[in-house]
Amino acid sequence: MTEELDLKKYIREIPDFPKPGILFRDITPLLAEPKAFQEVTDRLTAYYREKQITAVLAAEARGFIFAAPLALALGARFIPIRKPGKLPFETKAFHYELEYGSDSLEMHTDSIHSDDRVLIVDDLLATGGTIAACIELAKHSQAEVVSCAFLIELAFLNGREKMNGCDVYSLIHYD
Ligand code: AMP
Repeated sequence: MTEELDLKKYIREIPDFPKPGILFRDITPLLAEPKAFQEVTDRLTAYYREKQITAVLAAEARGFIFAAPLALALGARFIPIRKPGKLPFETKAFHYELEYGSDSLEMHTDSIHSDDRVLIVDDLLATGGTIAACIELAKHSQAEVVSCAFLIELAFLNGREKMNGCDVYSLIHYD
């Protein structure tokens, strides 16, 4: 077996972006290194291969990057969740509160079925607000949310606590 890459080496830290006090974890160096990007997909695929995932959900935009190849590798449907007004068919929306203000995400009403086994994917787990909204959207359809997967987890923000006991799997941790 070949040795695992240290994926953290491919994450660039940008202080004070997009605003003062935020240390932004930039995934673009990882995306620009095919062997690292491939390894992310391979490690996520290995973890989920036997879990009978039927639908992979992700919120725009960076969630799409990791969710699409994973959905193909798992033979599951890929379901995009988008900002309001972007999806052309009938949608359902979920509104959620942020630290300052509120936001909303939409999903096509016909995209998830009650017998689906859903995996939710994002690039990074911070406070968990985005993923909690995606979980609510999936649960509207009575689907089972099997797990949430992230490339990066900012563990010190305790985003896992918002996952309501849902399984969480992440490849890079910052404690
Ligand atoms: P949250 O809803 O707080 O878990 O935030 C998650 C979303 O915000 C993810 O989709 C990330 O893309 C983005 N995000 C939050 N904090 C950071 C950070 N420090 N560096 C890069 N992206 C972040």
